[in-house]
Amino acid sequence: MSERKRYQMLIDGEWVDGEGGKTFESVNPATGAVWAEIPEASEADVNRAVEAAHRAFLEGPWSKTTPSERGRSLRKLADLLAENSELLGRTETVDTGKMLKETRWQAKYIAEFFHFNAGLADKVTGETLPIDKPDLCVFTTREPLGVVAAIVPWNSQLFLVAVKLGPALAAGNTVVLKASEHASAAMLEFGKLVEAAGFPPGVVNIVTGFGEPCGRTLTSHPLVARVSFTGGPETARHIVRNSAENFAEVSLELGGKSPFIVFEDADLESAVNGQMAGIFGASGQSCVAGSRLYLQDGIADGFLDDLVARTANIRIGDPLAEETQMGPLATEGQMIRIEAEVAKAIDQGAKLRHGGKKPAHLNAGWYYEPTILECPAQETGIVDTELFGPVLSVLRFKTEEEVVRLANDTKYGLACGIFTRDGARALRVAKATRAGIVWINTYRVVSPIAEFGGFKDSGYGRESGFQAIYDYTRPKTVWINTSPEPIADPGVMREGVSSRPARPRARSERSRRPRTARGGRARRRAWPRGTGSA
Ligand code: NAD
Repeated sequence: MSERKRYQMLIDGEWVDGEGGKTFESVNPATGAVWAEIPEASEADVNRAVEAAHRAFLEGPWSKTTPSERGRSLRKLADLLAENSELLGRTETVDTGKMLKETRWQAKYIAEFFHFNAGLADKVTGETLPIDKPDLCVFTTREPLGVVAAIVPWNSQLFLVAVKLGPALAAGNTVVLKASEHASAAMLEFGKLVEAAGFPPGVVNIVTGFGEPCGRTLTSHPLVARVSFTGGPETARHIVRNSAENFAEVSLELGGKSPFIVFEDADLESAVNGQMAGIFGASGQSCVAGSRLYLQDGIADGFLDDLVARTANIRIGDPLAEETQMGPLATEGQMIRIEAEVAKAIDQGAKLRHGGKKPAHLNAGWYYEPTILECPAQETGIVDTELFGPVLSVLRFKTEEEVVRLANDTKYGLACGIFTRDGARALRVAKATRAGIVWINTYRVVSPIAEFGGFKDSGYGRESGFQAIYDYTRPKTVWINTSPEPIADPGVMREGVSSRPARPRARSERSRRPRTARGGRARRRAWPRGTGSA
């Protein structure tokens, strides 16, 4: 048996074991064998990480760096990521079973997210406000929030780290990252690059462990100012409840059950390819998986036959091999759950067109065949159940109105694919669809420049895009009195300043005011100036 790799966590610039040396095992999904030992963070470990991040934020040197310096650090990290994409990709593949072809490419591409945010670091500006009162200049600055807790699931973990850390660090925050218990190794390799890029201790901390106590302690910690979470809706509910403890701002990127709509006039070759990439890419373990296929009646039979024939040719196997087209699922639990859900759908009348079992030639590991189910009705349970696996539910429709209704008939609202040559129809359906991302005649494309996030049970908040960096800041409003005259005695109330009604001044009071150089009476300034005080 090959030697197990032993990892450590990154806390306050040091590589450390968990309290008491506690660890858990990481299993290679392609073989089912344990390949690494990961430290299990205790409550005390998480507290140390948050306190280190808080010190780095308040005392510096991170809080003292200029935005341009932060941008330079992020560019250095981006270059290191691109240079080390092979190592990062391999580690993620061994840890999660995602194909090397994909993880290597992703590791390289996430460098772009850091470059993009590096460019934004010194472009975050406040505003000068056209205030409704005389002799006041009012402006806002955007300030970082403090300690950000970034929590990610096991699929695409480096990608998800990049969308959170890029804007959070560029804006001047410090971070405690929590890896998924099913995939921690690539994140810890990423930590080595953070160190090599020269980020000061405490700016990026990485803890590994389970929801309890690691995730709970982190998200309810009083020093955490924002929680950026990607994962499932049930965990999200815990996180929102935890935020009642620390009033942290929360953003949630959750699951999906995204519709993939093919109209009769679509480029069918393109639509079949888009659908296969949309549901079988990453073995369906993608939040934006196009897992509900809606086919217009006229093309449904032919499209489905073609899709089934091509699916049967998918080469499933070792995710490290270049010729492989689909790897295993990430965990045994995933495989067992998917088997059960497919069996239930068949019981409810779904027709199995392909797959539905573990491939005969792959005994070890958590492999599951790409699976296509023709569902009798929208009400079939599987149609609105996120499986996070390579399982496609197929339904038919007659009209545009009908398919919009069916597409929106879900608790989720993350993504939607529309395939048609009719541009006006594509835009009508895009507008009518309750989803955060709509792809027209394409699918599953992402970019640091384009916002990403969902509606309904798919969460709230957006990642990527120009706005993301602002979400990691909050405005500070600065009021400056520009009047050359002194502030008046606060004991003398003026109309609009006091909550008491203004009283007419007595003659004797007016006559006590000093004379100005030109012989008139000096005006008395009320304090604070103008109308409306807090
Ligand atoms: P999960 O919710 O089980 O776990 C996500 C993370 O939360 C893990 O790190 C886990 O340890 C942590 N966690 C668990 N309990 C916690 C608690 N009480 N407090 C704080 N943290 C806790 O999700 P998963 O099964 O790892 O990932 C699959 C889910 O993620 C799917 O629903 C998928 O759709 C979703 N996802 C969404 C996106 C997106 O961008 N919208 C991207 C990828 C995955």
